[in-house]
Amino acid sequence: MTESIEKTRLLDIAIIGGGPGGLSAAHALVNQGLSVGIFERARALRPIGAALGLAQQGYQALSDINPQLSTRVRSLSANPQRQLLMRPNGEVLFLDESPMAGTSFTWVGWHTLQTCLRDCLPDSVHLYLNHKLIHFTTSDGADRLVRLKFQNQSEYLAKVLVGADGYNSAVRNATVQDGKPLYTGTMTWRGIVPRQAMMPLNTSRLSIKQS
Ligand SMILES: Cc1cc2nc3c(=O)[nH]c(=O)nc-3n(C[C@H](O)[C@H](O)[C@H](O)COP(=O)(O)OP(=O)(O)OC[C@H]3O[C@@H](n4cnc5c(N)ncnc54)[C@H](O)[C@@H]3O)c2cc1C
Repeated sequence: MTESIEKTRLLDIAIIGGGPGGLSAAHALVNQGLSVGIFERARALRPIGAALGLAQQGYQALSDINPQLSTRVRSLSANPQRQLLMRPNGEVLFLDESPMAGTSFTWVGWHTLQTCLRDCLPDSVHLYLNHKLIHFTTSDGADRLVRLKFQNQSEYLAKVLVGADGYNSAVRNATVQDGKPLYTGTMTWRGIVPRQAMMPLNTSRLSIKQS
């Protein structure tokens, strides 16, 4: 091992991105007995995002990693029972039974999922916040280590680099180099509003129509 390697922390696996993908990969890889570090550019995991749809395949994937993890996430999720469309003044335009009611499909808060996946990680996995990957190089030696360079942070070395850094992935840009993501021309804005902050519902309109 060279002097510069001794001074730099060496990991088996460095995961870039602390979203659902990066955190789930960390669970799977640490289960294999590997040393894992997750590097996330955000300074804190803040309660952002809205509801993320998680269906049976997602739970099966989580269960394959760790059955308790799957059970824990499901306990924090909800099966949609009803759907309604309202005007800003609270007028209900329609209220219907959700087509997903009674199925295994669930909604889970994006931030709820992220914090659950983080909190269930073993202590050996460190989440390095405020670590934005800006560049990486691969050594020529037989060990082929990846040297990771972060904005205003120390360098790290890893045997394997996992890119889980979302749709504008720096890792993908440097490896696959297939250009910027394509914009489909549509955009969705999602948010969560506390029920108490909404206009009072006109409960006389809240019966589900029978067809
Ligand atoms: C904040 C956020 C909220 C979202 N909310 C919803 C939602 O409510 N409902 C929904 O259906 N979908 C939501 N999405 C989109 C959807 O959940 C994503 O498609 C899904 O999260 C994909 O997971 P992922 O882990 O692959 O990538 P992402 O969730 O996109 O996570 C990528 C992570 O990598 C980090 N990152 C990016 N670049 C770097 C870098 N250079 N160095 C270090 N870290 C980096 C990002 O900060 C992010 O935390 C959200 C995505 C984000 C990022």
